[in-house]
Amino acid sequence: MREAIHAVFLYHAIKAGMDMGIVNAGQLAIYDDLPEELREAVEDVVLNRRDDSTERLLDLADKYKGEGGTVEKKEDLEWREWPVEKRLEHALVKGIDAYVEEDTEAARQNAERPIHVIEGPLMDGMNVVGDLFGEGKMFLPQVVKSARVMKKAVAHLIPYIEAEKSEGQQAKGKILMATVKGDVHDIGKNIVGVVLQCNNFEVIDIGVMVPAQKILDTAREQNVDIIGLSGLITPSLDEMAHMAKEMEREGFDIPLLIGGATTSRVHTAVKIQPHYTRNATVYVKDASRAVGVAQNLVSEANRDNYVAEIKAEYEKVREMHAGKKAKTNWVTLEAARANKTPIDWDSYTPTRPAAFDKGADATAGDKPRPEVVHGDGYSVLRFDNYPLEQIAEYIDWTPFFKTWELAGSYPKILDDEVVGEHARSLFNDAREMLQQIIDEKWLEARGVFGLFPANQVNDDDIELYTDDSRGKSLLTLHHLRQQNQKPPGRPNQCLADYVAPQDSGLKDYLGAFAVTAGIGIDEHVERFEQEHDDYRSIMLKALADRLAEAFAELLHERVRKEFWGYASDEALDNDALVKEQYQGIRPAPGYPACPEHTEKALLWKLIDPVNNAGLALTESFAMVPTAAVSGFYFGHPEARYFGVGKINRDQVEDYARRKGMSLEEAERWLAPNLGYDPDDAPSEQKKAAG
Ligand code: SAH
Repeated sequence: MREAIHAVFLYHAIKAGMDMGIVNAGQLAIYDDLPEELREAVEDVVLNRRDDSTERLLDLADKYKGEGGTVEKKEDLEWREWPVEKRLEHALVKGIDAYVEEDTEAARQNAERPIHVIEGPLMDGMNVVGDLFGEGKMFLPQVVKSARVMKKAVAHLIPYIEAEKSEGQQAKGKILMATVKGDVHDIGKNIVGVVLQCNNFEVIDIGVMVPAQKILDTAREQNVDIIGLSGLITPSLDEMAHMAKEMEREGFDIPLLIGGATTSRVHTAVKIQPHYTRNATVYVKDASRAVGVAQNLVSEANRDNYVAEIKAEYEKVREMHAGKKAKTNWVTLEAARANKTPIDWDSYTPTRPAAFDKGADATAGDKPRPEVVHGDGYSVLRFDNYPLEQIAEYIDWTPFFKTWELAGSYPKILDDEVVGEHARSLFNDAREMLQQIIDEKWLEARGVFGLFPANQVNDDDIELYTDDSRGKSLLTLHHLRQQNQKPPGRPNQCLADYVAPQDSGLKDYLGAFAVTAGIGIDEHVERFEQEHDDYRSIMLKALADRLAEAFAELLHERVRKEFWGYASDEALDNDALVKEQYQGIRPAPGYPACPEHTEKALLWKLIDPVNNAGLALTESFAMVPTAAVSGFYFGHPEARYFGVGKINRDQVEDYARRKGMSLEEAERWLAPNLGYDPDDAPSEQKKAAG
């Protein structure tokens, strides 16, 4: 298979005049479609079968070169001459949208009624796509492209169908989809919606930040068969549990689907399902599972069995989870603090940030220069309109393929036996759009960062000061400490451990940052949605996310080398940056080392990303625009990412006190990290804590 792919590449390279650089993987012919003599000659070269294979291939190449892609052209022409119904089906399966309007119009004129075009060739084509995807023979990017063809065809037909006032064809079921209140992430939800539509479900998508009541009202008005909830940040987990309670209270009896990056089968089974008893609550891991789940839930024959199975399965998950929790050995907060990360502060000299003295003059060479927002005592600097082409150099492509549900790491994925061809085609489309984003300035990148005098206080907090005399406090940040029993020699970590304690007498520092690459994205997303082009809309969002992460990487590097300057000699290529082979970390609030989201409010107070970068926070502390990254800079060489994990009531009480929150409020924000059930009496927890 590998050889086959290479052979096809080689063939195209020859056609293109030996210019390997311009091979377009998206247009690769199928291996079996190559002319026999050419295929043999190519194989001779690739498999090293003859001494004169190269010469023979070059001779042959001359013959095929002049014809400028005969094979493809002939194929193209061939399918364009098929009957129109066949052409539509072909366009759907291959995801070609170039002729869809003219073909749909031709089919409409042939058809007795416009609806027959949908029920006939379009549905036939989509069924092929659905089956191939279900069998794992087709991959997500293709499916989304096929859906684009379908949507464009349907959009063309709708006015005729409405004029005729005919009944639309019967969908398999109606699914309401929403991203929950406080959350704005919707790439995953949109992908699932597209895939469900491909499989003949009617999807009603009511967008992002949707309050529970609106979801329930719409579900009732539209008489939907299923509700699907999506969310990415941890506060959304709680909102989903709230939704389940509301469905129970309002007497709903339809299935509830749960999806999104921080959701899981365990969370769905333990925290959501118990609140909603009348029907199934099902965790949907990704788009490829969504169809199977939805089909089972609407099938009259399977439905009852399936719901019973899911309920039994989740009951088991709950039992196992309870068992695991009871087995966890906790240490008290006091004992955890006594076992903090051992750092030899006596032999450490923190670096005073260069920006304190030089301000924007800390800028190296001809790099973009920040504007100084605050330069007296501590530094806050901002960039408007950071050049996108410079940011693009820092992109880590691996997560991009993951967004499209293609497994593997970049660049190896491009040669992968199974998904390589699809990855290359997707990558070509991505690079093409990225170039357009840069050339036509679709997006603007803005960023702000601050560097502050800082010391660790109260064991787990970090106090920032208005200047290096440290006489006046600016603000105190709060962190959490691991509280599970560690094996000998392993510390109970807390991020505050990486900043020099106040009583060490050392003058240490901490940074904060927020960047976005999403300014201006909305008008383009809207344009694509109007064109029924989910493929480009999802592509643009995925690229904006990549640019935001890349900007975070770039800015972090510049801070280490220029503005803080503790690593001025650092010289790492992008691969090394992606592998984080530098000194220091940039933990992001909401992530495992600092999982509590309300600390973002303090971050926003420090560097004001609303005014300095156009970045706002929702009530659940999601960032808007979504293509954004924020966090803290820790410079100590031993600073590492870790997970706080579950914590116990003594720490939650202490944390609530330090933050000036009620215990209930702290428990709500820390819900994903609670190692106890807040509804249990404290004495019972002691027992569970052993
Ligand atoms: N190159 C990746 C970078 C993002 S993932 C990309 O382009 O997507 C790594 C980032 O996630 C880190 O820089 C940090 O900001 C955050 N992160 C990862 N693990 C973390 C943890 N345990 N605690 C806090 N933040 C973490």
